[in-house]
Amino acid sequence: MKKRDSHYDILFEQVQIGPVKARNRFYQVPHCNGMGYLRPNTLAAMRGVKAEGGWAVVCTEEVEIHANSDNGSAIEGRLWDDGDIPALAKMAEAVHEHGALAGVELVHGGFSNANHYSRIAPIAPSLISVNSYDPVQAREMTKSDIRDFRKWHRQAAVRSKRAGFDLVYVYAGHNLTLLMHFLSRRFNQRSDEYGGSLENRTRLFREVLEETIDAVGDSCAVAVRFAVDELLGPKGITCDSEGREVVEMLAELPDLWDVNISEWENDSATSRFEKEGYQEPYISLVKSLTSKPVVGVGRYTSADTMVSLIQRGVMDMIGAARPSIADPFLPKKIEEGRLDEIRECIGCNICVAGDWLSVPIRCTQNPTMGEEWRRSWHPESIGTKKSDDGVLIVGGGPAGLECALSLGNRGYRVILAEASEVLGGRVYKESRLPGLSEWRRIIDYRETMLKKMAWVKIYPASKLKSLDVIEFSAKDKFGFSHIFMATGATWRRDGVARQHRDPIPGLNKINIMTPDDLMDGVSPSGSVVIFDDEHYYMGGVIAEKIRLDGFKVLLVTPAPDISNWTHHTMEQRRIQARLLELGVELVTQKNLVSVNSKEVELACVFTDRRIRHECKTLVLVTERLPNNELYHALNARQETLKDAGIKTLQCIGDCFAPGIIAASIHSGHLAAREFEEDISGEVPFLRERVVV
Ligand code: ADP
Ligand code: SF4
Repeated sequence: MKKRDSHYDILFEQVQIGPVKARNRFYQVPHCNGMGYLRPNTLAAMRGVKAEGGWAVVCTEEVEIHANSDNGSAIEGRLWDDGDIPALAKMAEAVHEHGALAGVELVHGGFSNANHYSRIAPIAPSLISVNSYDPVQAREMTKSDIRDFRKWHRQAAVRSKRAGFDLVYVYAGHNLTLLMHFLSRRFNQRSDEYGGSLENRTRLFREVLEETIDAVGDSCAVAVRFAVDELLGPKGITCDSEGREVVEMLAELPDLWDVNISEWENDSATSRFEKEGYQEPYISLVKSLTSKPVVGVGRYTSADTMVSLIQRGVMDMIGAARPSIADPFLPKKIEEGRLDEIRECIGCNICVAGDWLSVPIRCTQNPTMGEEWRRSWHPESIGTKKSDDGVLIVGGGPAGLECALSLGNRGYRVILAEASEVLGGRVYKESRLPGLSEWRRIIDYRETMLKKMAWVKIYPASKLKSLDVIEFSAKDKFGFSHIFMATGATWRRDGVARQHRDPIPGLNKINIMTPDDLMDGVSPSGSVVIFDDEHYYMGGVIAEKIRLDGFKVLLVTPAPDISNWTHHTMEQRRIQARLLELGVELVTQKNLVSVNSKEVELACVFTDRRIRHECKTLVLVTERLPNNELYHALNARQETLKDAGIKTLQCIGDCFAPGIIAASIHSGHLAAREFEEDISGEVPFLRERVVV
């Protein structure tokens, strides 16, 4: 094992947290994952891998304490009664197996939950409509409700201990919990001893904290997760006023402070909007007010930054959700002096989308995330090769790079031929758009790892044509017998997508551009209209780029808001706000119906009422077409392929099915895992079945 530089030793010091001791300063803070109570094996395996990767503390997601508050379609943890203990005990066991501490984040959602599942009326400090647009109001809690809530929290703490957890949370963060609702002047209008002054509004938080310590504090650490600022100015909790005062009041009571800013979209901002370490001032503030260990997050992936955070006294433990998802072995890699092997989070929030969609978490950088149990994928190991056959991969975008890396890890000889001078395909191009520079980490990680493999050869500036491939294979020195086509996809120029299943007529009358043109450096002319019928980030980011280049821009979407799918990555509000601030004109719920040389015609998606808008350049952000001509040309020459010794030919990534970058990487990884393996069974992975 390589020895780490002693500079990083400080990160491997033990930390006493109340009655338990963490083996180092790496702390996986609670994070959602779409597994929860429905998928306990999936959850246990995923958390176990983090513990194996060296995290000293590995926490659950939110764990509901009682049927009185359910997260509805969001699949979180549950400790409603004793029957829920075994599922969570499985996770605690998996974490302990690898020497880490297991933490549980107990939650009552108050008016953040509409209780769609239980149909129990939600409760809150005061009568209030729920946070979502659901037609549900939470009722004001009586004294007896408050007593019940305290009892439920205590029971859940005891059950947590019985499930084997070492650390139990009292959670007042993200504006997602009853305890935070009591703290807030906005939501707490009570006139009894639980409302009014800050001391009164903090009363329930203090009581629950004291009762949790009383119930389990002999052997479990009791942590607090607290939103010290809501980024709302004087309307909300702020770190220079009530946030600070709450910490001062409770400073020495918990065993650990986990510092949070609220809401979740502020805490887990994407790299497009916030850079590494953006929560630092809030964490330092809490650290200055308590002698207890403090943990904070900030999408930290740099070991040097982590050392500096500890040395400067910003925090005691390096908290991470996303960096631990992108690289569950981050601590181990630092410990073993393998810093260049860290797979750094790119801050895209595809992991968050899994939770919003109630499916197991996925990650752009780490294709094994969420697949630990159902496919037995491990982020750091992969089956060895089944033959000495060589493989040609055509295309060095995310799919080709990932496939090359994973096949290389299996020990296969690989040739990667890329048409362009640079690797990365769409990621290279997209990372040069405003705010997306961190996405380059996808390329950097894979290029670094591939360079270490003498048995993988990379040929940039090598655009292959049908005959080239066959000639290539005939040359002994290359000698490959399998081909993966990873040639990507191209944005359509005919407007076909969701609104138009056939090409839009008349497009030849106007200057048409696609995101590919813009990323290749072609400039628009005159006033620009962007028609976004794709709905993820591209329409919005292209609008931002063109506007920053000085053009007048109108962005049209048939959806209710801009870049609609980015609700799942928690960026939508910021994207729309940024575009408005830049002066991009936004038109929602309109379809593009016709075009002439100087105008576009737009129709209301409900009434078909028409308006016209000047347009010199029309940018179509619609569908993409797979670049599969080479595949088809080769596939049509089966005999020739056979004569050349080619045994298999397969498309991966966008050239197989255009999708998001995470899908391309998963596709490349899947192909490498399954290569020359006996894949059988009707369902390609294990499922957690409801047993009847
Ligand atoms: P994916 O997301 O599936 O990886 P990308 O579009 O990002 O797709 O990457 C595809 C890559 O394939 C691009 O870098 C492109 O230059 C390359 N490519 C396309 N056709 C060829 C070809 N005929 N020979 C070599 N490389 C190719
Ligand atoms: Fe980071 Fe994106 Fe992976 Fe989430 S999905 S952990 S943001 S790389």
